[in-house]
Amino acid sequence: MICSYCENDSIYHRKYSGENLCFDCFNKSIEQQIYRTISKFKMLEPQDKIILGLSGGKDSMVLLFNLIKIQQKIPNSPSIIAITINEGILGYREKNIRKSKEYCKKNNIEHKIISFKEKLGKSMDEILEIYKKNYLEPYPCNICATIRRRLLNDVGKNLGGTVLALGHNLDDVSQTFLMNLLRKDFYKISRMNPFLEENNEIYLKKIKPLMKIPEKEIILYAQNKELDFVNNPCPYKLKYPILRKRVQLFLNNCEEYSPEIKF
Ligand code: SF4
Ligand code: ZN
Repeated sequence: MICSYCENDSIYHRKYSGENLCFDCFNKSIEQQIYRTISKFKMLEPQDKIILGLSGGKDSMVLLFNLIKIQQKIPNSPSIIAITINEGILGYREKNIRKSKEYCKKNNIEHKIISFKEKLGKSMDEILEIYKKNYLEPYPCNICATIRRRLLNDVGKNLGGTVLALGHNLDDVSQTFLMNLLRKDFYKISRMNPFLEENNEIYLKKIKPLMKIPEKEIILYAQNKELDFVNNPCPYKLKYPILRKRVQLFLNNCEEYSPEIKF
């Protein structure tokens, strides 16, 4: 198969648009989509101080790689600060932290590692133990994600950030939307990025420049660019039957016959 835009062999068939893309055209299309999303939703101003949530996984690595490239084109723009949150889940984050540290050092990016233990006095494992001791059924992701979001915001604010950049991709955003719909949580839907632009005394403005890119394309792009990301599933995600997992399976299933459904 030949690329839809040049004479090279195609490496990827984009089902939702019908395009066939070679290595270079595929990579270019991802970078253009990130740029278009930032510009369409006015996510960034030249003088924004970007705080980036860096987990060491594919999404945040792809986002950092691209934001560095975008920033290099803007003279005198404030430098990015990456924050990695260590939830304190045994055997889970160590590798991510090491890779994040290495990447930031190589690219001269200021990097902060913030742990639940240091900020709250308890690691995620310890918090869940308390739930169990009190015979309560914990929903680890709800607890963990709420604390993580708050820490990223508060630490980012203290560091003088004006924008919090998160690596949520199209799959994440469409799952969250459907979950909110299933729970009839219209308030949360109305507050979903990019509908709401928070930038006030408490909350940083959140931006999700990867929100129009499907997860499988992020993986392919990260591999093409040889980004050294970690693919290490969290033990709690595997152990607890969370709604997100079911919604994810449902959407992936629908995508088989309706390739554009996540958009
Ligand atoms: Fe936390 Fe859930 Fe993510 Fe694990 S999968 S790090 S528990 S939000
Ligand atoms: Zn091409």
